[in-house]
Amino acid sequence: SHSSARTREGWLAWLAVVIVCMLAYITSGTSDLPRVVTAGARVLHKPAREVYPGEIGSARVDKVIDDMVKVMRKRRAVGLAAPQIGVPLRIIVLEDTKLRKALSPNKYNKEQDRRPFDLLVILNPKLKEKSNKTALSFEGCLSVPGYEAMVERFLEVEVTGLDQDGQPIKVDASGWLARILQHECDHLDVVLYVDKMEKRTFRTVRYHNMPLAKGWPQQRVS
Ligand code: ZN
Repeated sequence: SHSSARTREGWLAWLAVVIVCMLAYITSGTSDLPRVVTAGARVLHKPAREVYPGEIGSARVDKVIDDMVKVMRKRRAVGLAAPQIGVPLRIIVLEDTKLRKALSPNKYNKEQDRRPFDLLVILNPKLKEKSNKTALSFEGCLSVPGYEAMVERFLEVEVTGLDQDGQPIKVDASGWLARILQHECDHLDVVLYVDKMEKRTFRTVRYHNMPLAKGWPQQRVS
């Protein structure tokens, strides 16, 4: 009848409103995020430059840092370097949370001694190894999507630099965090993990949880 058609119309209108709101919510805050550039992009293949003192705290640099943190969280990465979002500046961000670790359950979390840590924003980082002891473990990179390989890294490093407000900071890191710091600092000097990888261990992430083949190097993190 006439009134039930009107009811249905009203109901459909409400449904449309709800769907539009849901789409707006899902895409809010992420639609304007920069894209992660991948191997081959010019910005990944020329050295990033230092952030000048006068730029620290500027709207532009703060926006770059904000974008980096958002992209890292959205892509569930544990680190990101500015060149990866197309910005040729020496800035890195790192973060790993218990939740993110829980969301990526795989046997390597344990084998890699994955330990969550709070957000770190470092401008103009300088990395120094603290000993010549090394670890060997799998790494991936948002800029080399779909692959992973084992990379040898120093077990203990010290990174000095500036925080977002320009205050000097020093991070003494070992294990998981030390390895991520080395990966991110490398990005600023035109080095991707594939330049340092144990070539035989290079594989597609489809085989992420597969046992290592006989004769392959084994992961060691201590
Ligand atoms: Zn990377």
